[in-house]
Amino acid sequence: MNQKGISEKEVLSVLNAARQKDTSYEKVLSAMCTMPHPVAVKAHLQFIESNLGDFGLFPGTKELEDKVIRIMGDLLGDSQACGYITTGGTESNLQALRAARNLSGKKRPNFVVPTSAHFSFDKIGDLLGMEIRKAGLDKDFRVDIGSVEDLIDENTVALVGIAGSTEFGSIDPVDKLADIASSHDLFLHIDAAFGGFVIPFLDKKYDFDFSVSGVTSITADPHKMGMSTIPAGGLLFKEESCLLPLEINTPYLTIKAQHSLTGTRSGAAVAAAYAVMTHLGREGYRKIVTRCMGMTRRLVEGAGEFGIEPLIDPVMNIVALDVPDLDEVRKELRGKGWFTSITRTPRAMRILVMPHLKEETLELFISDLGACAGRTYR
Ligand SMILES: *Cc1c(COP(=O)(O)O)cnc(C)c1O
Repeated sequence: MNQKGISEKEVLSVLNAARQKDTSYEKVLSAMCTMPHPVAVKAHLQFIESNLGDFGLFPGTKELEDKVIRIMGDLLGDSQACGYITTGGTESNLQALRAARNLSGKKRPNFVVPTSAHFSFDKIGDLLGMEIRKAGLDKDFRVDIGSVEDLIDENTVALVGIAGSTEFGSIDPVDKLADIASSHDLFLHIDAAFGGFVIPFLDKKYDFDFSVSGVTSITADPHKMGMSTIPAGGLLFKEESCLLPLEINTPYLTIKAQHSLTGTRSGAAVAAAYAVMTHLGREGYRKIVTRCMGMTRRLVEGAGEFGIEPLIDPVMNIVALDVPDLDEVRKELRGKGWFTSITRTPRAMRILVMPHLKEETLELFISDLGACAGRTYR
């Protein structure tokens, strides 16, 4: 550390230079996060020092958190659900599996996820000392129910279903998972980190949330399609009893106990989530999702004119395009400023059509894609 402080002006100039190196979201088609809504940014700044790790000092922020949980519960099929605002999908998934493990009391616990599960579950298996078992997928990249059943044994403590898979945007058959979970008396966690703020606003209806009896907990991230600021994840439990195994005594705080993984915890992110959710309402989110889905269909149509097809009809605003010479084409597109991503199996070009994408930028991408793939219009 420098001995003598430098002026604010100098600091800001270093920050500006660093910011210049960061990517603006304009041509980013690989991210699950987006520009937060302006009202979320305002709220975030207003609550910048609020610490929910010691919420006895911040009862106003705590009230906002309770309201956010109620709003999310209502959105996800049970307004009585309980939980808290986490740092993101990873913490939410970790805490859900931790609750499941501790409730089961099993000595050598395992849990079953689809192979489409987010990599956070690999961290979780390691952290919690649980064996992770991966079930196969059907042709639409949803979990294969037979494969899940085959993997369950007497040491299984939880099943995980994905509502909006990271790579394909596919939604697992949650009702069927719930049937198996119920018949084996297992905890059922639904990872809707991305899908939680998309699926409720799609034209097509899916049963993926607490409206399905047997669903124990849900992850849904305000900092992805919820348009809120980072770090904001949501963890919801159907029953308050699931929070108990997460409870820790906090002797030297203004509160007696906490359930979060982190100690110090951003109240700003909670205020931001409250602000954007109440400001947009269901109508506002529906508009955003409808626009993203419209552009997703336009991308599929545009790519199709070059003979490039999606692996599946997009379920949400995530597309996996079967692009020939994938690595070469992605490299060329990168040269033109585009950030694309990939799916693992089968390998394809993964595109997220996020709210920051403009219609004219999408048209530019479609024509660049065609050019880089060496295709002419059909
Ligand atoms: C993004 C994502 C996660 C991880 O969320 P973070 O906020 O990055 O920790 C988990 N599951 C799914 C399905 C995701 O899309």
